[in-house]
Amino acid sequence: MTDSQAQGSAQTTVEHFDVIVVGAGMVGTAFACLLARSNPQMQIALLEAHKNAAFDPQQFDPRVAALTEKSRAVLECCGAWQSIAAQRISAYGAMQVWDAEGTGEIHFDCQDVHQPNLGHIVENSLVVESLLAAVDTLDNIDFLCPVNVISYQRSEAEVSLELDSGAKLTAPLLVAADGGNSAIRQQFDFATREWDYGHSAIVTTVKTEGVHQQTAWQRFMPTGPLALLPLNKDGDHHYCSLVWSQQSDEAERLMALDDTQFCAELSRASEHCIGKIISTDKRFAIPLRQRHATDYVTERVALLGDAAHTIHPLAGQGVNLGFADVSALVGVLSAEARRDNDLGSLLTLNKYQRLRKPENLAVMAAMEGFKRLFAADNIALRLLRNVGLGKVNNLRPLKNKIIRQVMGLS
Ligand SMILES: Cc1cc2nc3c(=O)[nH]c(=O)nc-3n(C[C@H](O)[C@H](O)[C@H](O)COP(=O)(O)OP(=O)(O)OC[C@H]3O[C@@H](n4cnc5c(N)ncnc54)[C@H](O)[C@@H]3O)c2cc1C
Repeated sequence: MTDSQAQGSAQTTVEHFDVIVVGAGMVGTAFACLLARSNPQMQIALLEAHKNAAFDPQQFDPRVAALTEKSRAVLECCGAWQSIAAQRISAYGAMQVWDAEGTGEIHFDCQDVHQPNLGHIVENSLVVESLLAAVDTLDNIDFLCPVNVISYQRSEAEVSLELDSGAKLTAPLLVAADGGNSAIRQQFDFATREWDYGHSAIVTTVKTEGVHQQTAWQRFMPTGPLALLPLNKDGDHHYCSLVWSQQSDEAERLMALDDTQFCAELSRASEHCIGKIISTDKRFAIPLRQRHATDYVTERVALLGDAAHTIHPLAGQGVNLGFADVSALVGVLSAEARRDNDLGSLLTLNKYQRLRKPENLAVMAAMEGFKRLFAADNIALRLLRNVGLGKVNNLRPLKNKIIRQVMGLS
């Protein structure tokens, strides 16, 4: 797979691959892994700029994701779920959602849809670590990390990347899984529709007075939603991951509080749903931005995961949509490879876009509507959401449909 090209007096190594993936976050690593396992004949390069923060069994990663059953199944097909489950997961069986301004509330329970749980809370660093361990067992993936791409060139038949090491990589298809600020998306002039929420999410791990009852708690306030996601520390159910979305100036104020003041404010804001907040780990504030690429594909390049779409974390859907992208693109490429078709042609890549864009758009639009409804101060909308939540809570078939959708089962 390696050629040497004479370039003046210097030698440049050129390596050819079937697919080059840039970005070894949860989405890019899962994609490389699943593609390689499904197509042992393919040679794949996976490039990452930074080493993954090692999973620490003594401490919780402040970045977690609530994974649906569909996403869990993707990780299982990657050969990573067994390792994640053996180290630390927290299955949650219920979700309690309520409105700070009124009396509206809704309770989802896995028993209503005859499932063992609604999903799992997992730590991002553990997911990536387990996926990379799975990558390590595959001969047809070259994992390059840390690496910097200096330039991207596209010709009719391939994309070529020049690395800071001097090496050059080529492939008929480049997959950009390089996150929300994707440099590849900009490099290849993908148009996006984006806006700043004017919100930041404060994330950390907190210890609670009561046990979380394996329930995901979410309170909607006019300033943004607050979620306490249940964690599992060797069977101790007093820890939750906090995702508290706030208008940026309010987030700044909360970040400036000392731990005792912050815990007191959070206890009040969560209405003591799990008792007092006793302690907090280090807090991080993440600015939130909604972004959606108008197209996910162009000749020889496909966007995947957050590179294609970033969504407000209130619904906990971002990486779940990313894993659905992974399944779709692997399915399309595997079918095209069997027919010996060009993996990077627009004809091939459009099949992936057709599978994913409508669903991602629908979820993003629903989340945006939900966010606006709950942020509204208008009395009619407040009434609507309170009456609406109560009605949905009492309408079992509709409620079960929503649960199955949230779980990624329909
Ligand atoms: C507060 C918060 C809570 C969330 N909670 C949930 C949840 O409960 N459920 C859920 O489904 N989603 C959730 N999300 C969304 C989820 O975190 C993202 O959708 C997910 O992390 C995106 O993964 P990704 O692999 O596409 O991108 P990223 O995680 O951003 O990974 C991109 C990777 O590419 C690498 N990279 C970037 N540029 C280059 C380059 N030039 N060369 C090489 N490598 C490069 C980066 O180093 C990184 O490793 C949440 C998000 C936030 C902010």
